Amino acid sequence: MYRTHNCGELRPSHIGQQVTLSGWVQTIRDKGFMAWVDLRDRYGVTQLLVNEEKSSPELLEKVRSLGREFVVKATGEVIERISKNDKIPTGDIEIMLTDLEILNASKTPPFTIEDESDGGDELRMKYRYLDIRRSPVQQNLIFRSQVAIETRKHLSGVGFIEIETPNLIKSTPEGARDFVVPSRMNPGQFYALPQSPQTFKQILMVAGMDKYFQIVKCFRDEDLRADRQPEFTQIDCEMAFVTREDILNTFEGLTKHLFKSVLGLEMADFPRMSYDEAMTRYGSDKPDIRFGMEFCELNDIAQGHGFSVFDSAELVVGICAEGQAESFSNKDIKDLTEWMQRPQIGAKGLVWIKYNSDPNDEMGRFRSSVSKFYSEDQLQTFADKMGAKPGDLMFVLSGEAEKTRKQLNELRLEMGRRMGLMKPGEFKPLWVVNFPLLEWDEESQRFFAMHHPFTAPLPEDAEKMMSGDHETLKNLRANAYDLVLNGVEIGGGSIRIHDRALQEKNFQLLGFTPEQAENQFGFLLGAFEYGAPPHGGIAFGLDRLCAVMRGQTSIRDFIAFPKNNMGRDMMIDAPDGLDEAQLKELNLKVEIAAKS
Ligand code: ASP
Repeated sequence: MYRTHNCGELRPSHIGQQVTLSGWVQTIRDKGFMAWVDLRDRYGVTQLLVNEEKSSPELLEKVRSLGREFVVKATGEVIERISKNDKIPTGDIEIMLTDLEILNASKTPPFTIEDESDGGDELRMKYRYLDIRRSPVQQNLIFRSQVAIETRKHLSGVGFIEIETPNLIKSTPEGARDFVVPSRMNPGQFYALPQSPQTFKQILMVAGMDKYFQIVKCFRDEDLRADRQPEFTQIDCEMAFVTREDILNTFEGLTKHLFKSVLGLEMADFPRMSYDEAMTRYGSDKPDIRFGMEFCELNDIAQGHGFSVFDSAELVVGICAEGQAESFSNKDIKDLTEWMQRPQIGAKGLVWIKYNSDPNDEMGRFRSSVSKFYSEDQLQTFADKMGAKPGDLMFVLSGEAEKTRKQLNELRLEMGRRMGLMKPGEFKPLWVVNFPLLEWDEESQRFFAMHHPFTAPLPEDAEKMMSGDHETLKNLRANAYDLVLNGVEIGGGSIRIHDRALQEKNFQLLGFTPEQAENQFGFLLGAFEYGAPPHGGIAFGLDRLCAVMRGQTSIRDFIAFPKNNMGRDMMIDAPDGLDEAQLKELNLKVEIAAKS
């Protein structure tokens, strides 16, 4: 028998018992006359003890021969610990060893396997099996497992069935590049890995399999960022005979269940906001509503006073940072301005107005970068409009509306961060609805689907979509929704088009010729001719949902074997070349063009 208990289990109630534990040696402390070993498994850490008085010289010798990460089986008596450790649940006891068996030796690991490791990202990814031995990584994976299990429990409880869809398919455009797989049996032809099971789940609705879900891998060949991985997991869902309302209620239910069952938190009903309102109030389609600092449009009071930057702008818009007039020195504001001027944000400048907290300040009521252009009383109108009080700091940006809103969104988030307004442990969900259906791209002179090509317009916009002119088309609203949590999009979906004519029209607007549409989506258009029910669905990003629920930003930490920024698996060293024979079998010839 390898163990009677695990390393996280023993408590004072076990004192006096003979026990056997198995695990990995985390640390050894040798004081000469006595020595301690921290033994770890995935349940916790337990301290083992030997000393000259009670232990045989052979046993002492054996303990001294141990190295970090040796695998051992330890037998002994549970005793009360003299210097207790209240940081771990087993900290009140230790094991006085009577026997120790070395089950396997270990090379010295390349980084410390403790909560705070000294290993860099790449090194830890290469030795992921060692990294996963660390408790924070384990806890994240265990958390993810709980979320997945609770998702299955909840969805099956409300009548959903889990159906697998294929991984070897043909391209479905979702806005990213496909990963492709050559077909040996069909020379010159390729499968694509699914960017999502979108068309399959819609086909399942046509097939009458109402209430489908799947926890499924999706593949997108995009440039990577901290919150992106080339393969990631979705909780993918679809329902038939539903309106948007039904879907929002169903998945609000799922989200509440996950928070309750996994984190023990009750969530109130989720507010909703239209895309337009989100853009106007926060400059973002995924606003973090844990804090206010909402946008305030100032064109009417800012323009016409001779300040040409504002006068020539399509939009003048500001935010008010409560109580920050004193905390931001001129140097801080200068740094912040430079931060806003980086190419990633691209602001031309940053106008600021400090509302002095001392009304008798010799500088007057306000200090501002635009006091040359605006009198005290005029600055007061800015303050009044923004609801600023003495001690507050106002920022104003101006320029082309869409760009300016995006820039101010970055500033709002940065201020939120600096002011500690994004409280960990606080969760503020939000449904964002009524996204634009189509986005016009000036450069390629064509429309793109904002969500994907299967998304239906709002019912009242369907007519306009069939016959509207360019301007009307630009303003069509989609029956699409995103679930946003603390400023992160954790899910998104839509009511789908289920009518062949409307779907054909949409493909046409998106620049598909009838032949291309038929070639790529003939199966779906065909299915729509055999009684397609009204349907809609949603997909949650499981990796991201887990990260947000645990108050973390990187989805990598919730994936057992993630890829690095170059899309490489550092442990198995993939991707990799193929040998000649394999290439031949696949009818492939590889020529690598030199990188320009
Ligand atoms: N397939 C969509 C996506 O991956 C989600 C959906 O519309 O259900 O974003």
